[in-house]
Amino acid sequence: MKIPELKTIPITQHYTERQSFLLHKMGIENLEDLITYFPFRYEDRTEISTLTDLVFSQETAVIRATVTAQESFFWNKKRQVKILITDHSASAELVTFNMRGIDKLMPVGQEFYIYGKFEFRFNKIQSSNFEFEPIEKFGSPTSLLGKIVPVYRVTEGLRQKEFYKIIKKSFDLSLKHIKDPVPKYFRESRNLLDKISCLQQLHYPDTFSQLEKARVRGAYEEFLCTRIALELRRMQEIKTTKEHRYPNKDILTKFKQELPFKMTSAQERVIQEIFEDLNQEHAMHRLLQGDVGSGKTTVALASMILAAANGHQAAFLAPTEVLAFQHYKKIKSLLEILQIPCALLTGSFSTKDRQPILEGLKLGTLPIIIGTHALFQKEVVYHNLSLVIIDEQHKFGVEQRGMLIKKGENPDILAMTATPIPRTITLSLYGDLDISIIDELPAGRQEITTTHVKKSQYRAMLDKLHKEIHKGRQAFIVCPFIEENENMVNVKSAEQVHAEFVKLFPQYNVSIVHGRMTQSEKDQIMKEFALNNSQILVATTVIEVGIDIPNATIMIIENAERFGLAQLHQLRGRVGRGKDKSFCFAVNHGYDADLRLDIFCSTTDGFVIAEEDLKIRGPGEILGVRQTGVPVFKLADFAKDQKILQASVNDSQLIFEKDPKLELPIHLSLLEFLELDSSFRVFSG
Ligand code: ADP
Ligand code: MG
Repeated sequence: MKIPELKTIPITQHYTERQSFLLHKMGIENLEDLITYFPFRYEDRTEISTLTDLVFSQETAVIRATVTAQESFFWNKKRQVKILITDHSASAELVTFNMRGIDKLMPVGQEFYIYGKFEFRFNKIQSSNFEFEPIEKFGSPTSLLGKIVPVYRVTEGLRQKEFYKIIKKSFDLSLKHIKDPVPKYFRESRNLLDKISCLQQLHYPDTFSQLEKARVRGAYEEFLCTRIALELRRMQEIKTTKEHRYPNKDILTKFKQELPFKMTSAQERVIQEIFEDLNQEHAMHRLLQGDVGSGKTTVALASMILAAANGHQAAFLAPTEVLAFQHYKKIKSLLEILQIPCALLTGSFSTKDRQPILEGLKLGTLPIIIGTHALFQKEVVYHNLSLVIIDEQHKFGVEQRGMLIKKGENPDILAMTATPIPRTITLSLYGDLDISIIDELPAGRQEITTTHVKKSQYRAMLDKLHKEIHKGRQAFIVCPFIEENENMVNVKSAEQVHAEFVKLFPQYNVSIVHGRMTQSEKDQIMKEFALNNSQILVATTVIEVGIDIPNATIMIIENAERFGLAQLHQLRGRVGRGKDKSFCFAVNHGYDADLRLDIFCSTTDGFVIAEEDLKIRGPGEILGVRQTGVPVFKLADFAKDQKILQASVNDSQLIFEKDPKLELPIHLSLLEFLELDSSFRVFSG
């Protein structure tokens, strides 16, 4: 949540040096940071309980009791005080340590509200951790009992109570500055709190339902502002027109005839979406999502061919050499038939091999290039790069994608991702992109059967493996680590599994590939496996992305309990790519019950997996920004707030329909809220 009016007011201006120093440690630099530093939990101190209830329930809550006596005892060579209390249910002792003046503060005969945890010790009910207030004070503005009390994550040296005062002061300093970005007509029609009430309820909730109302209002604002910012960015991009067009699509008919399969209707639809985009005035910025094996690469190929046939250059950026090579091999024979020159360029090319390619790119005689990071090195100059394809876009940083994009003039961009992104994240963070989704697998693909294998079922799995290999199929075995490590129990290393399987399958070739090998060693092993010169490949997750070996029908994932859902799904996608039925075994060497593995076995739909993953791991993990969290959103929850997001999507659309340039006074304050976090940019520019 943002409050731009407060961002320019530094903490040091209003707080002591010591407080500023401590707040700085908590990442709080200005009043905006401070007033949006929300509690991480709330204590319900509204209900009055009884001593007996608290002892049995082990809960921490408020009781109402009268002091009946005071006693002394010695601890740490000092006289300490016990306060004896009673409520209508039982009697108890409040044991205090070095609480100066407690005997004066809690005199005999007076009644108090006491908040604490009470336990049965030495045959007595006792508490040594409690707060108290005289009855008269209960529920008053400064009281911390009788209400919902916020708990903040504070740094060492700062106590909750001091932080309460710091927050209180921030309200006194801020209230007159705060503007509400959400137009009044939406606040009214959607029954949303105004901004100040929202902030107040988040820090000082009246009730839990008001608190949730405040959170909803905050989440709505976060989504709405992000959507509007993305929409403005998109309009900005639309304004920059490009020169090139792709009017001629005859080549696509020929391309389809030459393909060894019939395209799915989802593929056809997406190619049409891309074709229409390519012929707009502004450059295409499209994100193509599709599950592993859904045929995204084929769609990308069609687009590149379209570029070449219309006299442009297209570049296909792949994350690894193995993948670049695999794509190149596939496309090459097709392109030969269509008589379109094409080349591969990776970092391992010698200067001599590189020369003719660089020349072809510079002169424009080479219309299609496939490669790795080598594609955007300084020395590479393109004649007229007009289409950039980024495979597995999340494997590249914004700068890297930007470097390639800048090699052309406003090129069209197609980014692809094989890890489906939950809809809430797509809508909010990638709202400036057009999205295409391939939601259909090629015909004849059989559903992969996935089994959660517990220790006792390992043998049966090996029997199945034997059968498949005997039929001529191939298998992947994936392990989380390369070698054994004595610190880890119940972990199968790749080396150990390799040794075992060499013994188990003497009549077959069992190979191993892992991240500690050189690129050419890895490539060699992968090539041998692709040629069926080895039948079982033991690997670490280096095989995770994009490898396409249709004859492989078995995927065994050792220690599946150690992998994330999305990663498991990626690994499973290495099989099931041909016409034969495939099997995936998620071997659980840890605890037998594992919710994640049960979810994994229950569906092969990448979008369902993505939603579940979001619930389990949160957006930070999925977006790869765990350390910093998702900075734009303090209140919105991607897993929970789909309805709120949808509301904000509708409302931002309405705003633009009414007021396309955001000029109306009711929308002006919105503009101040639209600073976007650049870490989510898919394309730099
Ligand atoms: P993705 O990149 O989405 O994981 P690919 O484009 O690599 O998928 O396709 C996976 C495999 O399916 C490849 O072997 C590809 O040749 C094949 N394929 C793609 N589209 C079809 C289709 N419509 N029918 C049959 N096979 C297809
Ligand atoms: Mg792919």
